[in-house]
Amino acid sequence: EIVVVGSLNLDLVARVPRRPLPGETVLGSALEQHPGGKGANQAVAAARLGARVAMVGAVGADGFGDALLASLRRDGVETRWVERRAGSGTGVALITVDDQAENSIIVIPGANGLVDPEQVARATPAIRAARVMLLQLEIPLPAVMAAARLGREHGLTVLLDPAPAPPPDRPLPPELLALADYVTPNESEAAALTGLPVNPDDPRPVAEALLRRGARRALIKLGARGAYLLGPEGEFRHPGFRVDAVDTTAAGDAFAGGLAAALHRGMPAGEALTWGCAAGALAATRPGAQEAMPMRDEFEGFLRE
Ligand code: ADP
Repeated sequence: EIVVVGSLNLDLVARVPRRPLPGETVLGSALEQHPGGKGANQAVAAARLGARVAMVGAVGADGFGDALLASLRRDGVETRWVERRAGSGTGVALITVDDQAENSIIVIPGANGLVDPEQVARATPAIRAARVMLLQLEIPLPAVMAAARLGREHGLTVLLDPAPAPPPDRPLPPELLALADYVTPNESEAAALTGLPVNPDDPRPVAEALLRRGARRALIKLGARGAYLLGPEGEFRHPGFRVDAVDTTAAGDAFAGGLAAALHRGMPAGEALTWGCAAGALAATRPGAQEAMPMRDEFEGFLRE
């Protein structure tokens, strides 16, 4: 099994020709509601590729929470470890997507902000049953740390997506990087973690800086240019699949799901990198987050092409 400890959000997506500057109003063409949150997105991405997935997280006792749980269940994700917090609303993300498929996002954490080490401990049975753990930074850091520790203790392969990037005044504890088997930033997150700019033609120096900070494997996602992995198995580069991207909102989450599903099947690191890139590329061809995640048949067909 794969266990995801992370966030669930309702995404409210506004389509705009271009994103507003400070103080500016632009007219959008549509408002959509989609189930989202990096944790839930990654859970759905992995489940659609055929893995058994359990989600650990929190929603409010409201209609948004009902909708998110129902949608996870439709994708076959185990939701018994998602707790309902009566005192808080379900997390919401306000997303604008422009004609270039670039996005800007505001996240209101709500119940996600109440996930704590005690809740993670209550989910020990789910962690013990799993082989791979997916973590992001949309729940409080103490909960992420507790999950990573439990994951290691029980011998799971721990994947840390350090997103959203931690603020400069609160850098990630080196212990967290060291607890993860894979640390998977995109370019801006890699720059935030290391203080170095990423050169997509030569990401190795930034990956080396991540290893120096304690990461076992550094995997840098490079958008349309694929991804780069440096670790004990060596160096791997995938140039990215060529697709017509319409919305890259959850490409990184799709990548995490593909990577996790591959590692869960026991595939080697280099092949798992390809799976991540294929899932990310397919998700970029469709709008939305969870709905954009590729299904297994489509995914396998795409890899054979
Ligand atoms: P994030 O979504 O976390 O910011 P990226 O934008 O780097 O991360 O996207 C994650 C992965 O999805 C990339 O490593 C790449 O494999 C794939 N991907 C993203 N955008 C595209 C694109 N336009 N074309 C092909 N693959 C893409």
